[in-house]
Amino acid sequence: MIGIAEPQIGVEEVEAVQGVLRSGILAQGPKVAEFEEAFAGYVGCEHAVAVNSGTAALHCALLAHRIGKGDEVVTTPFSFVASANSVLYTGAKPVFADIEPETFTLDTEKIQEKISSKTRAVLPVHLYGHPAGMKAILELAEDYGLTVIEDACQAHGAEYRGKKVGSLGTGAFSFYPTKNMTTGEGGMLTTDDREVAEKARLLRAHGSKARYLHDVLGYNLRMTDLSAAIGLVQLGKLDSFNACRQKNAEFLSRGFSGLPGIKTPSVKEGCTHVFHQYTVRVEQRNRLAAFLGEEGIGSGVHYPGTIPTQPLYEKLGYGDMLPEAERAAKEVLSLPVHPGVSGTDLEKIVETVTAFFTDK
Ligand SMILES: *Cc1c(COP(=O)(O)O)cnc(C)c1O
Repeated sequence: MIGIAEPQIGVEEVEAVQGVLRSGILAQGPKVAEFEEAFAGYVGCEHAVAVNSGTAALHCALLAHRIGKGDEVVTTPFSFVASANSVLYTGAKPVFADIEPETFTLDTEKIQEKISSKTRAVLPVHLYGHPAGMKAILELAEDYGLTVIEDACQAHGAEYRGKKVGSLGTGAFSFYPTKNMTTGEGGMLTTDDREVAEKARLLRAHGSKARYLHDVLGYNLRMTDLSAAIGLVQLGKLDSFNACRQKNAEFLSRGFSGLPGIKTPSVKEGCTHVFHQYTVRVEQRNRLAAFLGEEGIGSGVHYPGTIPTQPLYEKLGYGDMLPEAERAAKEVLSLPVHPGVSGTDLEKIVETVTAFFTDK
C-alpha cells in the first residue's frame, strides 16, 4: 500500500531523543528553548512559543490576543475542525466565509460581508500547504482593526510574496506526524509581538511567571524536551522534505495533464506551495478513491464535510451552506505526495489514475 502519510524519522531523531532521555530533563527545558529560537529564525519572526499541539497554538494565539466571549472571528468552513474549535474554546464565535475554488483557502472577497461590530480577528488557513490571500486579508485587518491569526498547521516553510507564512500575522503550526515536519505531537505559536509571546508563555504554564504564583488562568500546554529534540532535527530537514513534496507534486501534475475529469492543484502567483497534501478535484471522487484503494494506493478526503455542517456546529445553530466549500467537500481527493513516495510509486499513481479516466 502506498500510504497517504508517513513520518520521516531517521537515526538523527532517534539519537536526539536518546540524548534527552540520558540528560534527565524530559519535560520543557533547554531543547524547547533551542527549538523555539531555531523555529523563529526559520519563519523570520521575533518570537516562537512551543506548545503541545497545533490546536494549543491556535487556542493560545487567540487567548494571547484577548479574544473571548462576545467576540467574533471570521474563518474558513473548509479545514480541519481544530481551526474553528479553537475559537469556540475561547468563548468567541467563529463566523464562516466561503472559500475560493482554486486554492480552497478563504475567499478574500467574501470576508468583508462577514465583518460585524463584534469581529476581532480573521483566521485564514493555509490549506494543504498553499498560503491564503494574505495581502487582502492584511489590508482588511488594517481597515477594521482586526488581529490576523494564521493557521499554518499545514504550511511549514510556505512563502507568500517572499515571506514565510506564520510571519505575516500571529502564526500557529502543528507538528503532528502527518505534517510536513513532526515532533510526535506538538505545536508552535509565532509572532513579532513581544506582549503576545509573553502572554502565550504564561498561558502555556498555568499562568505562572514565578513558581507557584498564578496571575491568570493558564493551562498546561507545554512541549517536552523529547519532542523539541525531534523538532530540531526535523526543522533541519524541512526544506529538503518540502522540495521532495514539490518535486512529487510536479511529477503527478505533469502525469495527469490532459486527463479529462481531474483538476490538479494550482499555485497562485507570489506563493510557494509546500504540498502538505496534493489534492485534486474530481467529480467521481468516491469511485476514484475506491479504485485506487483496490490498486494499493492510499488517498484521503480532506475534508468530507464543512465545519458548519458538523453535528457539533449544527447543534450550536450553524449549518451555513457555503457553496464552494460544499462543492469542495464532494470533489477533493488527496493523493500520496510525502517524501516517502518513491519514483516507482509515483509512476504507479499516474498509471492507475490514467487507467481510471481512460478505461471507463
Ligand atoms: C493539524 C491541524 C490542526 C491541529 O493541529 P494538532 O497538532 O493536530 O492539534 C489545526 N489546523 C489545521 C489546518 C491542521 O491541519
